[in-house]
Amino acid sequence: MLRIRKVADATTAANRAAVEAAQKIMREQFSAMPDEDIAKLPDQLSNPLKHRFVSRLFVAENGRDQTIGVALLLYFSDIGFSYLEVISTAKGRMGAGIGAALYERVREEVRALGTQLYFECLPDDPELSPNPEIRAANVARLKFYERYGARPVVNTKYETPVTPGTSDPPYLVLDPLGSNDLPSAATVQKVARAILERKYGLPADYVQMVVSSITDDPVRLREPRYVKSRRAVKGAVPAPGEPRIALVLNDDHTLHHVQDRGYVEAPVRIRSIMAELAPSGLFERLPTKRFSDRHIRAVHDGRLVDYIRKACLIAGTKKSIYPYVFPVRNPARPPKDETVLAGYYCIDTFTPLNESAFLAARSAVDCALTAAEKVLEGAGLSYALVRPPGHHAETSTFGGFCYFSNSAIAAHMLSRYGKIAILDIDYHHGNGQQEIFYHRSDVLTVSVHGHPSFAYPYFSGFRDETGIGSGAGYNLNIPLPEHITPEQHRSAVGEALRRVRRFAPAYLVVSLGLDTARGDPTGTWSNRARDFEKLGRMIGEQGYPTVVIQEGGYRVRTLGINARNFFAGLAAGHGAARHATPAAQGGVAAKTARPALEWRSAVMPEDVGRVRSLVASTEFFSAAEVDIAGELVTERLTKGIRSGYHFVLAERGSGLVAYACYGPIDGTQDSFDLYWIAVAPEEQGKGLGTQVCLRAEAAMRRAGAKHVYADTSSSDRYAPTRGFYQRMSFTEQARLPDFYAPGDGKVIYVKALDPERPPPRDGP
Ligand SMILES: [Zn+2]
Repeated sequence: MLRIRKVADATTAANRAAVEAAQKIMREQFSAMPDEDIAKLPDQLSNPLKHRFVSRLFVAENGRDQTIGVALLLYFSDIGFSYLEVISTAKGRMGAGIGAALYERVREEVRALGTQLYFECLPDDPELSPNPEIRAANVARLKFYERYGARPVVNTKYETPVTPGTSDPPYLVLDPLGSNDLPSAATVQKVARAILERKYGLPADYVQMVVSSITDDPVRLREPRYVKSRRAVKGAVPAPGEPRIALVLNDDHTLHHVQDRGYVEAPVRIRSIMAELAPSGLFERLPTKRFSDRHIRAVHDGRLVDYIRKACLIAGTKKSIYPYVFPVRNPARPPKDETVLAGYYCIDTFTPLNESAFLAARSAVDCALTAAEKVLEGAGLSYALVRPPGHHAETSTFGGFCYFSNSAIAAHMLSRYGKIAILDIDYHHGNGQQEIFYHRSDVLTVSVHGHPSFAYPYFSGFRDETGIGSGAGYNLNIPLPEHITPEQHRSAVGEALRRVRRFAPAYLVVSLGLDTARGDPTGTWSNRARDFEKLGRMIGEQGYPTVVIQEGGYRVRTLGINARNFFAGLAAGHGAARHATPAAQGGVAAKTARPALEWRSAVMPEDVGRVRSLVASTEFFSAAEVDIAGELVTERLTKGIRSGYHFVLAERGSGLVAYACYGPIDGTQDSFDLYWIAVAPEEQGKGLGTQVCLRAEAAMRRAGAKHVYADTSSSDRYAPTRGFYQRMSFTEQARLPDFYAPGDGKVIYVKALDPERPPPRDGP
């Protein structure tokens, strides 16, 4: 099994291990690479400003979680190009398609960034590479890339040895990702300059010599040398269109068919959902992978897992075991008889054990894990369409049609790579994941459901169940009355999403119950198709990589239509979030009374995601800049004030509505940089930007700052930003023409801070 995973940071143990393994591969395979360049990798991931590019690390992992390949991509956001710094398999892992899988993943990423891909490759020209052995390896590499349409840029002096007389100076290679449009000379000049200056720190005269040799306009690539047939080129990377949802379907579910009258958890449920989803064009179906039992045993008591397996086999396919006695759960003395044990582990009388139930439940777990793995690989949305459901299965009990907690198993697997939130919008309380993660703070569990006074499971789902120990505060239940409107339901889901935003998870798991629908035999609410579309949109707008796992929903006539509408909304919301507005902070909350502004300077872990959402919502910044904004918060959290990043944050209700980030400029006595200032769109035009700026200035003054610097673009689009600095009494100190792009310069502002001026008073 091979998996390509994008590693955002080194915050979890698994990510740290992956980064270390990547460093080991780099040390072994690139003996010429200076060790300090390799050592700085974790810092490079978390501190892009310092390095003047954003780093994206991809690792290839096998079934035992060993890192067997690595690719490091640098994104120079100010110039708008991507540079493949490293791509390599681990020692002794050559072949096996690892390099190709990594390279193809890198190309997808570059395509999503909207740039072209550059890298260096050692030459295959005998004059430049006289040693036949080295040259043969160079030929193999260039041949590999040529199959993708990537070839050296010719007719330049790029491959001039820095030290005259040395062999094997690299070519500059361009992969245009299947496009026939080659970049202009001016663009490639900037690219070459950035690589030679920022990456290698080469002397100005050498850089100038290379840059001025790039004169073909547009530049030219070498004629194909190894790949003759045009068809052999696997060039084009499809443009990122509407986000497609990776769909994993539990084909084994039909085995599990309880013929008893009134047993609503039936195979027709999935058939009716698929009948609507298949023609929608929203989904891309994936085969189900098989996973080991250890994922199930990581969240469920091994004795429960063993019992379910054994009892199901004893029952066979023709009959079922139903519990008929519910022994007091004395852990030391479980009953011996297998049929009596049913009541020891089960919480109700309608979750029968038989061979097909076990096979279907086991396969549902594989589907949930396959869908979860898809988001680890970088997919935005995935959906495990499974039955039986899972959210009523706890650590050592099952029931409510559920055997294994699919959502909790997926969430636990994902939790190795970042914080997870589970949002359960089934009509019934998600007691399974609540109990499983009740003592953990790295998995937030939130459930919106019918109040347990009238709704299954009756014993849990109350407001005051909020977690215990280190999990205190990481479970939120929002129980609702028996009869509510779809608007009231959405308002509660809005509250749930605000809690999720504060937590700022790396991945979101949605336990999707469609039993909140009008006419559902197990529910009392009245959502219609358009309501499900809105629910999907609200969730998608958060912009998190999201795994949806099917739970309940039993009114077969409308199940499919409601599912289709939910996913149409989810995909639309997620697509919009990628471009700008996640977390429609105004949406639901704005209708209620406006809470007062609250100011603070301390940052919390949840601010990483909230700052990202805020910055993205302004629509002014690229995805890479959004990453940087979040990473500065991470830097502050990990290094404290030594990070050099300080913050002013304004909250209204549970939403972050404005913030500024500033800090001293290294190597200066009393100059500070105002790195970021952003105000949520719905709060703009009300003087909030002024307040944030004044508060940041006051804090800088207290820290001894005499001058504050800020920079922005000279383009028309940034006229409001320049106007803002001018109104704040910043004066233009310098203008660097064509800094960001031709005709798009950088404007540097400065403001002298008067030490006498008193800081502003609190309040708006
Ligand atoms: Zn339900």
